[in-house]
This record gives sequence, structure tokens and C-alpha cells, in this order.
Amino acid sequence: MHPMPILKIAVAKPLRSTFDYLPPLDCDDAFIAKLQPGTRIEVPFGKSHLVGVLVSRAPESDIHKTKLKRASRIIDSNSLISGTLLELCLWAAHYYAHPIGEVLTLAFPPLLRKGAETTPSFNAVKLTPEGRLAPRGIQRSPKQAALVERLQSHAMTKNTLRTEGFSNAVIKALIDKGFATTCRIDEPVPATEPPQPLPTLNPEQDHAVKQLSKLRGFAAVLLYGITGSGKTEVYLQAIANTVSRGQQVMVLIPEIALTPQTASRFQERFGAAVGVLHSGLTEVQRAREWERARSGKLQVLLGTRSALFTPFHTLGLIVVDEEHDSAYKQQDGFRYHARDLAIKRAQLEGCPIVLGSATPSLETVSNVVSGRFQRFTLSTRASAATLPTWQITDVRQQPLKAGLSLALIKACQDTLNKEEQALLFLNRRGFAHTLLCHDCGWVAHCDHCDSRMVIHKRQNKLRCHHCQAQKSLPKNCPNCHSHQWQGVGYGTERAELALQGLFPNTPIYRIDSDTVSSAAQLDTVLQAINDNKNGCLILGTQMLAKGHDLARVTLVGIVDTDALLFSSDFRAEERLTQLLTQVSGRSGRGSRQGSVMLQTHHPEADIFHQVIHQDYWEIARSILAARQNNGLPPFGQLVMMHADSKDPSEAERFLALARQTLNSILPNSHLLIGPLPAPLSKRAGKFRYQLTWLAPHEKNLHRFANVIADTLTRLPHKHELSWSIDIDPHEFL
Ligand code: ADP
Ligand code: ZN
Ligand code: ZN
Repeated sequence: MHPMPILKIAVAKPLRSTFDYLPPLDCDDAFIAKLQPGTRIEVPFGKSHLVGVLVSRAPESDIHKTKLKRASRIIDSNSLISGTLLELCLWAAHYYAHPIGEVLTLAFPPLLRKGAETTPSFNAVKLTPEGRLAPRGIQRSPKQAALVERLQSHAMTKNTLRTEGFSNAVIKALIDKGFATTCRIDEPVPATEPPQPLPTLNPEQDHAVKQLSKLRGFAAVLLYGITGSGKTEVYLQAIANTVSRGQQVMVLIPEIALTPQTASRFQERFGAAVGVLHSGLTEVQRAREWERARSGKLQVLLGTRSALFTPFHTLGLIVVDEEHDSAYKQQDGFRYHARDLAIKRAQLEGCPIVLGSATPSLETVSNVVSGRFQRFTLSTRASAATLPTWQITDVRQQPLKAGLSLALIKACQDTLNKEEQALLFLNRRGFAHTLLCHDCGWVAHCDHCDSRMVIHKRQNKLRCHHCQAQKSLPKNCPNCHSHQWQGVGYGTERAELALQGLFPNTPIYRIDSDTVSSAAQLDTVLQAINDNKNGCLILGTQMLAKGHDLARVTLVGIVDTDALLFSSDFRAEERLTQLLTQVSGRSGRGSRQGSVMLQTHHPEADIFHQVIHQDYWEIARSILAARQNNGLPPFGQLVMMHADSKDPSEAERFLALARQTLNSILPNSHLLIGPLPAPLSKRAGKFRYQLTWLAPHEKNLHRFANVIADTLTRLPHKHELSWSIDIDPHEFL
């Protein structure tokens, strides 16, 4: 008998262990002995079959041999993912105390998770020999003639043809006439882009590129550059150097849909050698990009957080752009932080990693201060632009029009008079956040959440921003039948209406998730703004704080960020500093001087004066000092356990049991708080409780977290109760 015949296989289910299987009957011992971890294996599971991943082999199982099932099929002859990627997944599952099968599944594209072959080919169309000879039969159809023209040099995928405007009917017509035929091709033929002349780097950029290109093996670097300082140009040139050595580069960005400009800059520079993973890809396209990265055909892969789990042939550099962005943290299911895992991956791969930001996270600042990370600084704006000047507007006792002070309205007018653009930042969508009866004080609450309904006037609806609930705006008050409604508070919809009244002849672009829902839409709006030469107003939520390069914006108005002054989240100060710095950084990126006007009811608040008078690094150091005194991250480590249930006592009881178990295993240096109702105590019909766990930094934390996760998995609880464990949480709602 073979010494290692037991296959330990992870399946993509919320189960915390691997499962033991015997090899399929038709596999000989020598074949089994060569099986690598990471190989996909189909196994019977319950009543169905699942695609699992081999994690390890073992000489024997705890389960009696007669009860062990056999795997049904070995899908891959060699593991498709490298040892380091497998190791990363195992490490992440342990660090975040998350089921291994659900983590490993991320290393494969959806098509392969279902057991498909590795190299999907594409449905394509090519000309027949008759089609090549400029056929007569199509002269009366210009579309068909154009398609024949397009197919002259090579076959093309149907998808590409459709994006170029050739309908299925046109394609079918050519095929029916015998001028074209379907075929399958391996890879879409890349569009050829003309090489761009590269900008001459300024001395700081040049230094950063040169130093980055010298790095060999693992090294972590922060590229700390103020907004508009040319960080992207540094990445592009450092990447080109890595690529020229025959190595690949992984670039993570927070959100592709919100930053179409970034993706197109990479595509312009690297052409077909860059792959972009975004949500608009079909499963086949996704599998194809994955395969191109894995096989080494693709040189640069650009993607959002889950792209982190893509296998590479020879990874030579990782770039994490806007590394402070909260989009890197997954907020449900497997709650990982892509920046943190990217650093781990760089360690395992033995390659350098660059984290770029104008407002780095305090975790990263702390790593620079302690000497674990190097820092390169870009201290001036790349073009002629300088940083904007600030003005704080005290709005106490001032008349406001839809939340806008007369001073801000006048500043907008002055900007428009100069044919420049003004950007107004208001981080609340909808018309007003509360519907209030002026006669009796009745307020519209969500029936399913502990929250108020937001008025969306154009849709004539009340909507809850925490669940899917919505209803029509009521005609009269359900309490006193009065018609005296008041909308309390200001959202972007209301501000837009007010601005339309104030500036009837000015184009107003509103950018929030109600008006812009796709990358294409955003691209169109950004394009319109960049094409506008006579001045316009831009109004939006934090979608606007992302790194858009709007050259004609010279005024940024920050309408209301006061709520963040009073948040109980320990990261609120860090977030507000980042937000103010990023939003203000949209001003004056072109050749003209920009300004920022900040409206507040708390003009004395320290944080505003710090943002204006100190640089971000100084502020970060002082917030860090306070965190250190309180043992908060990054000095201590936080874990949040959540339980939601229809019956509030059920969720509370569950977390009380969790606390009991933790009390019995944790050293005294660990602090437990709760269970307490969550700040949003009810959502979508479920009551929510939290147990907070603050620990000194130590490896053991993850061992304890796994023990408690195992215990809770086995704890009997009602079906409708859901629970989770969040290591290094970013959201405390
Ligand atoms: P960041 O990523 O730091 O926000 P970008 O890389 O987007 O900055 O650069 C801001 C603008 O300056 C872009 O329009 C970019 O093309 C331009 N730029 C960057 N580096 C240079 C340079 N060395 N010379 C001239 N223009 C540059
Ligand atoms: Zn009423
Ligand atoms: Zn709700």
C-alpha cells in the first residue's frame, strides 16, 4: 500500500476543516505520489459533487477506511497555482480565522471553480476563402462589407466584434452567405497602441524610480506623494523596468469603476501586455486573463482587491495604489485586507512591494517610522500646479441655501466668472435624510432597521440606506394626517436643485451612486467635465475624493463633514484627515492656483487647523502617539465578533457564550468588551450585537481566534442567527 494515500481536500463551503478522501480508483500509486497541493480534485460531497483543492496528503485518516469516500476525478495533472500562492491562502485562512476552502477558491476564476479546463478559447469568426475575395453579394450592405474588411488580416472574437458595433445579425448574414465561418481562437488579438513619449521625471520621481528598480527580494516601500505629484508616473516607469527584466507586476487599485482614467493610463503605456480584471468581464475573459498571468504571457495585471489571489509565473513587483483606501478591506464573508495580504504575498514571493498614497494609513506610517518600510517622497505637484489655499467658513447663525453658505455660493460665482470649475463635496446622497411632520413631530423610520428613511424626491420615494426597503412618499402624516412635511438635512439631490435655481445657465454635474452607476457613465461625465471650457459646477459624494485628475477645478467646497468630528470610530480622525486632504487635492491640479472652502459649525476644531497648517505626516505621527497610549491599532490588535438574529436575546446569548469561551483561554492582557448592541442595532429585520476584543500584538491572537471560530461553528444555534469574526476591523456600524 502507498504510504500517503489520504487526500486532504478543501471545498468552497463555510466549513473550517479539510476533508479526507481516498484517491479515485483508476489512479495508480505513482501518480498519486506526484500530486501537488493546489491540484483541483472533484469529490462527492453530500448529495452533489464539488470541485475541491488538494491541501495535503496524509498516511492515514481519523475516519475509518470503510467510511472514507473516494475522490471522483483528478482535474489537473499539475497544480495550477504556485506553492507561494497556496501558502498565502493557508496563511490568510489562519490569520483571519476563515474557512480554508472559501479562501482557496479565490485563487481560481469562477469558470475553473466549476471544474473547467485552464485555457478557454473564444468564439470567433474568420473569413472563408470566398469571403477573402471581396465578394459581390455584400456590396449593397455597407455593414457586411465593413465586417469583411475588418476580418481581412485575422479572425476576431464575436465579443470584440460586438463591441466594435457589428451586430449578431451582420455576423450571421456573412456566415449564411458562406463568406465567413465560426472558429475558436486562443486569445483575443490585442489592439496595438502607439507608444507614447514618456514625460521627463522630476528629481524626486527620478530618485524613486531608480531606487525602486534596484530592489531585489522582499522590500516594502511607501511612495508618499502629495495629490497630483506624479506617483502613477513613478509606478509606470518602475513597472517598465521590472517588465524589461522579464518579470511580471501586479497592480492593485481600490475601485476600477471609479477610476477609469487609471486603467486607461496603464493600457496606453503597456498595450496588450496589461490585463485588467474588472467586474464587466465575462467568465471566459476572466479565466483568460488569469491564465495569461499564470503562464507569464501577461506582463502587468491591474485589478481590485481580489486580483491579489491571481497566480503569476514570475512576480517581480507588487504595487498597491491609494493604499489607505477602505475599499481594500472586504466587509463581509472573508474579511481580508488586500493591502496587508499583498505585503505578505511580497514576502512569500520574495519581491518588492510599493504602497502609494498622499495620505497613507497609520499602519503604513507606523511601519515607516519603525524602519520596517522605506519611504520615498514626492513633495511637489508634477505639473506647474501648487497646493490650494484654504479658507474656513463659520456657518453658525448664517443663512444657508440647501446647506450652502452665501460665502460658498459667492465663491462658486467668482469661479464661474473666471470660466473655471467648482467642485462641491457633500457626502450624503438623496434629498434629505429625515422626513419630519412639522405639526406632530412624526418621523419616517425604516420598518426593518434602526434608522430613518432618506427622502429621494425625484423618485418620489423614501429609501432606507441600510436595507433594500423603499416606499412612496406619504401624502399626509400617518399620525396626525397633516400635510406639513419637512425634509431635514441636505443630500446631493437637494443641493443640486438649489444650485440649479442659483445658477440656471451653468452645467451642473452630480456624481453619486444614484446618478452614476457604471464605469462607462462615470467616464462620460468626467469626459464632459474635462471638455467643459466655460466653467461648470460638480457636486458629489466621496466618489469624487478618488484620484480623478480634473484640470480645470480651482475651487473645492467642502459642504459638511462635521458628523465625522463626533464619530465614535477610533479611525474617525485618520479618515477625516485623509478625506479633507484628498478632496482638497482635487483643486488647482492644472496651471491655475486652487482654493478650498470648508464650511463648518465647529470652526475651532483642531483637526481642521492641522489639515491646513501641518503636513499629513506630522498629523499622522500625532494621531499615532495617541493610539499608542491607548494600545489601539497598529499598536494593539482589534477583533470584532458580530451576531445578528431576529430574536435579540439569541444574538446576545450567542456572543455571551463566545465571551465565556474566550475568557477561559485568553491571557489577562486581552480585553473583552460586550456583548453590546451594535451602533446600528437593527438591520434588515435582524438585531445586531458585537463583542469587541482588544489584544496586544501577538501571534497567539490568531490561534485563539481560530479556537473561538471552531467553537462557535459547533455551538448549537438557531438557523436564522448569523455570526462573523472580523480581524483588524474597519467598520463598526
Ligand atoms: P498622482 O498619481 O500622484 O495623483 P499623477 O501621476 O496622476 O499623480 O500625475 C498628475 C499629473 O501630472 C498627471 O496629469 C501626469 O500626467 C502629470 N505628470 C506626472 N509626472 C510628470 C512629469 N514628470 N512631468 C510632467 N507631467 C507629469
Ligand atoms: Zn403629524
Ligand atoms: Zn432598512
